[in-house]
Amino acid sequence: SETGRRLLIAGNWKMNGLRASSQALARAIVEGAKALPASVELAVFPPFTLTAEIGALLTDSPVRLGAQDCRSEKSGAFTGDIAAPMLADLGVTHVILGHSERRRYHDETDQIISAKAEAALEAGLVPVLCIGETAEERDSGRAYETLSNQIARGVPAGFRGVIAYEPVWAIGTGRTASSDDIAQTTAHIRDSLAAHLQTGDNLPPILYGGSVTARDAASILAIETVGGVLVGGASLKADSFLAIAQGA
Ligand code: PGA
Repeated sequence: SETGRRLLIAGNWKMNGLRASSQALARAIVEGAKALPASVELAVFPPFTLTAEIGALLTDSPVRLGAQDCRSEKSGAFTGDIAAPMLADLGVTHVILGHSERRRYHDETDQIISAKAEAALEAGLVPVLCIGETAEERDSGRAYETLSNQIARGVPAGFRGVIAYEPVWAIGTGRTASSDDIAQTTAHIRDSLAAHLQTGDNLPPILYGGSVTARDAASILAIETVGGVLVGGASLKADSFLAIAQGA
């Protein structure tokens, strides 16, 4: 691992896991994290049903506790929803926002995602704000335009968080973007963020996500503009998740 660059290895468990197996997974990750350099930070994002009990297992460990969504309002008549202060109250430090599955299955727009990011920041959480182009947008040469629009509309002014670049065609498909693609696209995202946030320094770290496995993690994490990875499928097994972190 290089000096000066911190890398975040984030495990998005999505809608997976019952109590016993998830506890075993979290325990194994806590154990494996002890062998990692301090420059590598691990975070797990269990479903809401497990937030509190996985959080209890992470107490006194460097492994961070994340959630997969929050609502933008602080409280109120929103049956079934979870507010950012509720997450902070449980020791959550990071929250994924605008994942492509939520954009698709819950019709989340960039405007909604921007409001959620503001709420998360206000609650003291680190938003992990996801952007990414579909296969159709990519094939028609509109990938960069899509990403710039998602940044312009979905990243609030003064954003202090993390951006996750997750090409939709790479999520859960076994088709990882090539290292060249990731290098070029994250450089575009960085420039787009700099223009939008009107700052050259202290830009949000950019994670890559989409079918990351231990096989390609080291080459992805070696890219200068990559600040870590957001891992779905491969984060559900402790050995594959830890192997990804060891590539950092
Ligand atoms: P995947 O999911 O690693 O299973 O492709 C990544 C994500 O959606 O965050």
